[in-house]
Amino acid sequence: MSASSASAVPESNSIGKTPIPLPFDLAGLKAGRPVLWTAGAEPRPGIAAGAPGISMADIEATLARWDRFAPLLAGLFPELEPHCGVIESGLLPVPRLQQALGLPEEAGALLVKADHALPVAGSVKARGGIHEVLEHAEALALRHGLLAPGGDYRGLASPAARALFARHQVAVGSTGNLGLAIGVAASALGFRAVVHMSADAKEWKKERLRRRGVEVVEHAGDYAEAVAAGRREAAADPLCHFVDDERSLSLFLGYASAAPRLARQLQALGRRVDAGHPLFVHLPCGVGGAPGGIAFGLAQIYGPHVHCFFAEPTRSPCFLAQMLAGTPGHEQLGANPSVYELGLDNRTEADGLAVPRASELAAALVRPLLAGVYTVEDETLFRHLHLAASTEELRIEPSAAAGLSGPAMLLGTPAGRDYLARHGLQERMPGATHIAWTTGGLFVPDEEYARFLARGAAAASPRP
Ligand SMILES: *Cc1c(COP(=O)(O)O)cnc(C)c1O
Repeated sequence: MSASSASAVPESNSIGKTPIPLPFDLAGLKAGRPVLWTAGAEPRPGIAAGAPGISMADIEATLARWDRFAPLLAGLFPELEPHCGVIESGLLPVPRLQQALGLPEEAGALLVKADHALPVAGSVKARGGIHEVLEHAEALALRHGLLAPGGDYRGLASPAARALFARHQVAVGSTGNLGLAIGVAASALGFRAVVHMSADAKEWKKERLRRRGVEVVEHAGDYAEAVAAGRREAAADPLCHFVDDERSLSLFLGYASAAPRLARQLQALGRRVDAGHPLFVHLPCGVGGAPGGIAFGLAQIYGPHVHCFFAEPTRSPCFLAQMLAGTPGHEQLGANPSVYELGLDNRTEADGLAVPRASELAAALVRPLLAGVYTVEDETLFRHLHLAASTEELRIEPSAAAGLSGPAMLLGTPAGRDYLARHGLQERMPGATHIAWTTGGLFVPDEEYARFLARGAAAASPRP
């Protein structure tokens, strides 16, 4: 087990169960070093007690909406036809990658949740983004009498429905992948689609959208500025629906609906999750909506037996900053701090995670159930991207590699071992399941991906 990312905190504050976590390495965070923050020792309720009115019933309703739309989706997207219109990814055993990452068998089994290969959008954004477009289309069609409750949703491809959608606009602000998901789904239904892109969005993502007839508006600023500009423009147009990545419950529930499906996949693989068999889930995090929704859904199902960790770039740790805000010793941080306040610059090759400020909605929903947040250097992302390809032929983008650092952070750092000790988990590790959620990659162009691989290979070879 590599401990290269160990932070400079003392080894442990006592033997066995310790009630208080080790002091957090704030200096390391500010210096851009990889760090792990873990939640306090108070018993985690497992279910977000203070959640603003969402529950398992909402997740069930979201699953039912996916089911209603499946026949339509199978018709709109040829790649979904063999899957009867279901947008889902595999849960993959990855023994060679596990070995290459140095995770010993007696510490549990590593699985990859392969959202990098999610059809239609090529990233985890298919879950939230497409769900919100469908929910909006459903509401419009019902309101205009083009759909009866319980009716055949394939009727939404009719000329009358498309004419209705063509009068309406769907807009979004994005670093890239959310724009891809929303733009592709909205334009397939016949909506006018506008994507506000931040300066760090990749050129190929803009081009892919323009080829589909999506209007791409480029902004010189960061992700938060692109969202604000889109939000302003949309507010002036009553026929425009703005998908608000920082505030949308529809997005959040789209992500959360991954949880019951994952539970079925775990069962099919014979992986138990209970007190004797902890589940660790490592989720790349931008604003926190995607990992937040997934973590929320898993907590509803597994309660305290699931331990969700968010993974962020060392220079964009907005969710970690959000978790520190309002806690003792971090009074200098505002209520919704940005990474710039920490002296960090939000520059990372992980464009899906290049977010300066967390979603307050996601933070509120997730705070009671989150196990921890850790940060990863870009070079490690590239090294793991290369490792995923060379061991298991997984084609992932840099953002999607962030979860692969999870097992080493948990088992190979003082803060991680302290977390396991505080929760009495060390003896349970042989029965543990670790899931690295690989969140994007399918549509990365070949030349771009070749550059990623080369950079990963260089990062893996010993420096002269
Ligand atoms: C958007 C994105 C994430 C994180 O989702 P947030 O909702 O922004 O936290 C992770 N990985 C990839 C590839 C993404 O595009």
